[in-house]
Amino acid sequence: MEFMAKKNIYVTCVSILGIVMFLLHGDFSFVSLSEWVLGFALIGATLILIHFQIQLPPEGNFLSMDSAIYLACIFVFGIKVTLVVLFFSSLVNFFYERETKWWKHIFNFSTYTLMIIGGGYTFILTGGSIGVIHQELLFSYLLAMVPYFLVNVILIGFFFWIAKKQSLLTVFKGMIAGTVETYISTLLLSLVLGFLLQSSPFFGLALFVGIAVLLSFIFRQHFKLYQTVRNKANIDHLTGLKNHGYFKEVLTNKLLELKQSQATLSLAMLDIDDFKKYNDGNGHLKGDHLLTFFGQLLEKACSKYEYTVARFGGEEFVIMMPNTNQYEAASFIDHLRKDVNDTYFEGVELLPYGCLSYSAGIMEWNKEILNASEYISHADQAMYYAKKQGKNNTHIYGNEIDSISIDKPMKELEQQLNILLAKDIYTYRHSKRVFKYAVEFSKHLDITDHEKKVLILGALIHDIGKIEVPRDVINKKGKLNADEWELVKKHVTWGKDIVSLNKKYQEIVPLVELHHERYDGKGYPHGLKEEETPKLARILCIIDSFDAMTTERPYQKTKSYREAITELSVCSGTQFDPFYVEGFIDFIENNYIEDEKKESTTI
Ligand code: GH3
Ligand code: MG
Ligand code: MG
Repeated sequence: MEFMAKKNIYVTCVSILGIVMFLLHGDFSFVSLSEWVLGFALIGATLILIHFQIQLPPEGNFLSMDSAIYLACIFVFGIKVTLVVLFFSSLVNFFYERETKWWKHIFNFSTYTLMIIGGGYTFILTGGSIGVIHQELLFSYLLAMVPYFLVNVILIGFFFWIAKKQSLLTVFKGMIAGTVETYISTLLLSLVLGFLLQSSPFFGLALFVGIAVLLSFIFRQHFKLYQTVRNKANIDHLTGLKNHGYFKEVLTNKLLELKQSQATLSLAMLDIDDFKKYNDGNGHLKGDHLLTFFGQLLEKACSKYEYTVARFGGEEFVIMMPNTNQYEAASFIDHLRKDVNDTYFEGVELLPYGCLSYSAGIMEWNKEILNASEYISHADQAMYYAKKQGKNNTHIYGNEIDSISIDKPMKELEQQLNILLAKDIYTYRHSKRVFKYAVEFSKHLDITDHEKKVLILGALIHDIGKIEVPRDVINKKGKLNADEWELVKKHVTWGKDIVSLNKKYQEIVPLVELHHERYDGKGYPHGLKEEETPKLARILCIIDSFDAMTTERPYQKTKSYREAITELSVCSGTQFDPFYVEGFIDFIENNYIEDEKKESTTI
């Protein structure tokens, strides 16, 4: 409010000063009819030049040649006539340019009045004589430009300083850099016009205006060309999306804006999974088509919001999401990911998931992020974390599992698990998720730290025996027959054999072997009942089943978290240990359902 008041006071003062100066110097007493005719010709010419401006890059930069007329008028006819020309052309423009606010018209008129008076008196006082354009007066012409130029820069500069709250130095620097050449060319043009007015006023004026209008057309064409080239430079040719350079520029500007506001912003980095495999199997050309197709999918999804999507590199895409927090962003990206999974594109059956998929990293902006590069690099790290969890998922930066306390054995076991990555990506990802639930759930369990560690490591490695199950059974799309099912069941025993090889992991063996036992004794491999199965294996059985129920697979519906906990409570006491089922349901309700948004941060 305060700066509005300042701006109004400033505009009023300049306007009053300009009007007073006009009244003191303006004079409508043209003598002869021919003087009036020439006066109106000049007014007409000024209006034409105001209308046919010269458009220069970047956007919104215009050069109006009306100043050339005012200066030529000063040199040939003097200050009074020039002010009359200014008055009438401003008056007509006031009614013609209705979009411009009335006070701006008056402010402009006053500024020009002061420029003309400043320039005119300097011209006269430095020895300039009105009427004849002469090379000996070159010095006076040049000096006349100085106040004409300075009054403009100072008055407009102060306006921007007050209205836009920029530093005075920045404002003046910007203005001087952009206008010196303009004013020198204006002076040259005014001298040319002066010569023309001297030798043949009407014909000369018509020639001058003709050339100016023609130049305006030429520059307009030139500007259109510039726009086309600029657009091309910002677009990625293959996908038609915005490109890397443009995106960084937009993000940089957005971050500058955010520093002064409380608005939120999130960034997503998306990388298509196993794109190299797609290229290898279907050829590069098909790969190009897939990238275009994928780009269009993203564009369409983002077009409903004010999101900016760009191709960042090969098969990497970025999305800038203003006014979106990390949970909203993750939810959007994750829903989109599931839609992408369910959208068929020729050749995707070759990919490990049998569908098009991507891994995504999300990060919400905070004040500690220094610049666009750092921000993008964080989102990129989150994306790589998502890849490490088995791909085809979304991860929010900063939500990485803290595995410090179990670091060394975990690394070793993780390496074993990596063998699964090539053969059975579903089991790999399932193991990672069960591990994550175990880390989180163990914090709520009344067991010793050592037991927690055993549970977590067991969760990570519990399905390792699946390495021994034949590939065609593991990756079979339809239902398994009885024999195949028997093979799959053997994974617990094979897993026990693998883990028993290392003495260090003896405590984990029961979890690997017994996580398919049931509380009612109808499980496998031994049919153990109730407390006959060790506590940790009973807990793992619950987590394992919960993840199996909620695991998403392309083209297939799965249970929601709420449906899955209903199923858990239905099976409490038969399949599952009732005590731990209750605790696990509480844990899921509080961490994955209560805060619905958090659901999308899971892998
Ligand atoms: P990951 O799941 O780990 O991301 O594996 P990936 O195969 O997708 O990633 P990687 O970085 O190993 O390979 C990316 C591939 O993308 C390699 C490159 O040939 C391909 N690629 C990059 N740009 C283009 C392009 O413009 N057209 C085509 N057809 N392929 C491209
Ligand atoms: Mg990549
Ligand atoms: Mg990739």
